[in-house]
Amino acid sequence: TCCASTETDVSHRKDSTPDHGVSEKIVGVLGGGQLGRMLCQAASEMAIKVNILDPLKNCPASSICHHHMVGSYDDSTTVEEFAKRCGILTVEIEHVDADTLEKLEKQGVDCQPKASTIRIIQDKFLQKVHFSRHGIPLPKFIQIDDEESAIRAGHQFGYPLMVKSRRLAYDGRGNAVAKSEKELTSAINALGGYGHGLYAEQWAPFVKELAVIVARARDDSILCYPVVETVHRQVMENICHIVKAPANESWKVMKLATDVASRAVASLEGAGVFAVELFLTEDGEILLNEVAPRPHNSGHHTIEACYTSQYEQHLRAVIGLPLGDPSMKAPAAMMYNILGEDEGEAGFVLANQIIRRALCTPGASIHWYDKPGRFFKQCNGSAECLNIISQLLKHIILASADMRKQRKMGHITVVGPSMGIVETRVKSFLKENADESP
Ligand code: ATP
Ligand code: MG
Ligand code: MG
Repeated sequence: TCCASTETDVSHRKDSTPDHGVSEKIVGVLGGGQLGRMLCQAASEMAIKVNILDPLKNCPASSICHHHMVGSYDDSTTVEEFAKRCGILTVEIEHVDADTLEKLEKQGVDCQPKASTIRIIQDKFLQKVHFSRHGIPLPKFIQIDDEESAIRAGHQFGYPLMVKSRRLAYDGRGNAVAKSEKELTSAINALGGYGHGLYAEQWAPFVKELAVIVARARDDSILCYPVVETVHRQVMENICHIVKAPANESWKVMKLATDVASRAVASLEGAGVFAVELFLTEDGEILLNEVAPRPHNSGHHTIEACYTSQYEQHLRAVIGLPLGDPSMKAPAAMMYNILGEDEGEAGFVLANQIIRRALCTPGASIHWYDKPGRFFKQCNGSAECLNIISQLLKHIILASADMRKQRKMGHITVVGPSMGIVETRVKSFLKENADESP
């Protein structure tokens, strides 16, 4: 756990006798949220050591990683220090210090995927430029840096217009929709103004959102997981809420989605799993939304539903082990995100009721991320609670999103013999909350 151990990198040992069945390399992960936590869980099955760098002392991965360095993955000195303790560097979040990764790579540090990939992905505008240069179909987009260019974007693309932050976006926090020219200013203000780096995207008239997890080995060979459908709770909130695997689409659509996803990943450098978010339009066209260079929310179900989970696959890929079988071992799976509400206890009580019922649902597996911010929701005003909160405050400021609404607190995956049965099972644990039904 958070002990100040001084393990050294054993990956360059001269002695050729292996003393580990799988790999001695210590995998260093920038970020220790739920994705980092699930990477650690997969690693523990093969006794692979995972070090975590995350600013939150009690981040979700901290209790189960080999070593947790408390510090910022966006700080040069900290990342360099962390790299010294690891055999390979990888990420569970793309908002890390890409300059430092690039510098470390030049010094011979093994970063997977490559720093160039992180640099492209972490700036959504650069990402769009990159993929359009590689002939990947995507919604039209244009940089906006003042009122004039924003209005021009509206004229070109029409309304509703999607305005996005170039950087630091996740769970739709970084997107604002302007339904008309009148709403442009408020959309831009909601994203902190032009100074933060914005661009506009044409509204994608999608009938469904699809996602493909693509694994890429160190020899650049590629394997794709079955295409899934992602359902977002509200278009305005843009938070991934439900994943259905496999997606219920024609062979042709599945093939096209897989082709676009693997072409997108082939244009990037380095090993690991990548999540490719796609829009399916009414006329069967596939447009790329964005790529994540890491395990992703749309691949949680692979833990129970596939022969090799996306987490194990990521470790295999970055270490240089053979990739595992991504195919599904159950006919159908559905993943439900447990979202935390900001106000009061209500959200927590609800989550608890859902979990209680899911514990009695066949084929259901519960994942609780143990996010430290829950203290806020459990605070009963006692001196003890207030003390914990004041201690947490400085960490919470670092991860200010913790304070906001609709945080991902956990997820439940249900597997079963058909999508119909799986859906019935999910509805059964959501039943007292008609609003939440898929
Ligand atoms: P993530 O948590 O996946 O990283 P994000 O904050 O990066 O999310 P996006 O993926 O850009 O945000 O957008 C979130 C959601 O908003 C999409 O999944 C989709 O539902 C909607 N959306 C994004 N871009 C468009 C668009 N151009 N047209 C219509 N809807 C869009
Ligand atoms: Mg994103
Ligand atoms: Mg997205």
